Amino acid sequence: MTQIPELFGSMVFNDSVMKSRLPKDIYKALKKTMQLGTHLELDVANVVANAMKDWATEKGATHFTHWFQPMTGFTAEKHDGFISPAGDGTVIMEFSGKELVRGEPDASSFPSGGLRCTFEARGYTVWDTTSYAFIKDGSLYIPTAFCSYGGEALDKKTPLLRSMEAINKQALRILKLFGSKAKSVSTTVGPEQEYFLIDKDVYLKRPDLVYTGRTLFGASPPKGQELDDHYFGAIKPRVAAFMKEFEEEMWKLGVTAKTKHNEVAPAQHEFAPIFSTTNIATDHNQLAMEMLKTVAGRHGLACLLHEKPFAGVNGNGKHNNWAISTDLGQNLLEPGETPYENAQFLLFLVAVIKAVDDYQDLMRVSVANAGNDHRLGANEAPPAIVSMFLGDELTGILDAIESGAEYHGPDKQPMEIGVTVLPHFPKDTTDRNRTSPFAFTGNKFEFRMLGSTFSISGANIVLNTAVAEILGQFADTLESSKNFNADLAALVKKTICAHKRIIFNGNNYADEWVEEANKRGLSNLRTTVEALPAFIAKKSIDVFTKHGVFTETEIKSRYEILVEGYCKTIHIEALTMVDIVNEEIIPACVSYQNELVKLLSRKKSAGDFDCTMEERLLTKISKLCTCLVKKLDTLDAALLKVGEEHEAIAHAKLYRDVVFAAMNELRLSADQLETCVSKKHWPLPSYGEILYSVN
Ligand code: ADP
Ligand code: MG
Repeated sequence: MTQIPELFGSMVFNDSVMKSRLPKDIYKALKKTMQLGTHLELDVANVVANAMKDWATEKGATHFTHWFQPMTGFTAEKHDGFISPAGDGTVIMEFSGKELVRGEPDASSFPSGGLRCTFEARGYTVWDTTSYAFIKDGSLYIPTAFCSYGGEALDKKTPLLRSMEAINKQALRILKLFGSKAKSVSTTVGPEQEYFLIDKDVYLKRPDLVYTGRTLFGASPPKGQELDDHYFGAIKPRVAAFMKEFEEEMWKLGVTAKTKHNEVAPAQHEFAPIFSTTNIATDHNQLAMEMLKTVAGRHGLACLLHEKPFAGVNGNGKHNNWAISTDLGQNLLEPGETPYENAQFLLFLVAVIKAVDDYQDLMRVSVANAGNDHRLGANEAPPAIVSMFLGDELTGILDAIESGAEYHGPDKQPMEIGVTVLPHFPKDTTDRNRTSPFAFTGNKFEFRMLGSTFSISGANIVLNTAVAEILGQFADTLESSKNFNADLAALVKKTICAHKRIIFNGNNYADEWVEEANKRGLSNLRTTVEALPAFIAKKSIDVFTKHGVFTETEIKSRYEILVEGYCKTIHIEALTMVDIVNEEIIPACVSYQNELVKLLSRKKSAGDFDCTMEERLLTKISKLCTCLVKKLDTLDAALLKVGEEHEAIAHAKLYRDVVFAAMNELRLSADQLETCVSKKHWPLPSYGEILYSVN
């Protein structure tokens, strides 16, 4: 087997490849563009493109593609060959700087939320030099941002890069006040990704999984996750083989795949890389989600990334571990050793606290979709209420600062910012509360509300922008300060006092918390439909436009895409249910009842036999079937009714209150039928067969 260090990054046009393949001056010019975002001259781009092509073709690549992240949540790619006619009937392999830097895909069929009419179909892709090109499936992939001809962002990368720039700018203002020599600041992310692995043959027998990614029917199996025997359990050989290949693919692409384990639900697993800069982490997470599915296919498996593939067992989440670092390698969320470092840490800490409190609704928006509605607040994931966990020690310190009282740590002393050293608090004590939506875990925050299908871009756009806004406010105050230490201390104290309502160290799954949060005035936006309007509220438009992350038009178009996405998801689920009931469940009930009726009449004509079982079963199934078809009618009617509503959010509300409600009713009857119709007749693999399909 190839050694991992050799394998790692072998398909990436990374810094070491650039260094060895580019002339010195070209390498320098490219690095400057990568680090400072300066314009890349065409003659430089030409040399880089040629070197990339030579490198890629040596590794067997024949094509290149601009790889981008449209609003579908998936990635998009269109491949062009390197071939170019030489004029004598032969071809040469060519790749120009122009082709590297900019592409013009026909963008008409991507969601744009009205930003681009189809007759102005041109959009363009621009190379994101901060993310390395790589080779996959015989093509050179160039990570790009995707914009409309008018310059509006049509993707998930552009605003993320803008939000990183926003936090860079504001954080540097603060660092300057502390005398830091840092030249740039970026956020770092390590996303933990949950998924299910099931047998492909079983998967293909479930049209609901194929069309919607989740099961729309299915009675509970006798054994689910009650015994907690799957979490961190021994990994089965077939899964282990899958994980090994998946990791190797990730390593080749330069993704630092690090952690793997079994998760809580049967057939559920988790993957986590080592953290990296946010836009790289985002690109890599997109690649990982795709690769999980691809490699699963090679192993006769299907990978389910849906937020809630199965009712009654845990769904799939994604934990977004987030921190802020400088180019000097300092993590600004790491409590330091000296009073000076502590003061700076405390300021960044309270900035995050204020940002989360002030922009809790936007954080909620960033994790809203139809799939995640099944998880948030369902005792397997945090509730729909955004709050923060800091742990007892750190909360104790903040309390002491707020009240001016002595901190009851090991050596009792008043906490004086900029003078006293923070008492040491052990990191592991900050990681105990797994119910918190946004937990401080020693030197980073873990945002745990994301659903597993999400691009992590959205959550990080909100986090970066909100924290940039607060850091900007702090800088405004402190830059004009005459007595820095005193004003800093006052600012920290004031911020704790005004925003401590967002801190909650207790059990977020408890009903009492919902009540308590309500008393504290925290939002509880239970569903996507309740959450999304916050995105187009004045407060949201103000903060995003102020920091140049979104224009107002971009926000409104994205809002439209999100609302529409919600409606379409439910619509497809409803149609799939109707199909399955008509084409599979009803025929199954018919044939089973037919058998029972035949048996009953034969028994009756053969003699005086007891027919209680046949009669009871027939009565029960007949009644349930009557219910089933009535509920099917209700769902059909609901689908007609929603068609009459054209206002976006009202439309979405109808989907939630009328269509989704009717779907749940229909499912109840079908699931009851599953428990009385014989296995031989029931068309869909059961939950038990799906969840325990991989050995
Ligand atoms: P768990 O939450 O399961 O206990 P870990 O604490 O080991 O997991 O880390 C989870 C993720 O957090 C990993 O991807 C890790 O690389 C990431 N992480 C660690 N430090 C940072 C940081 N400074 N910034 C962003 N992510 C980080
Ligand atoms: Mg975690």
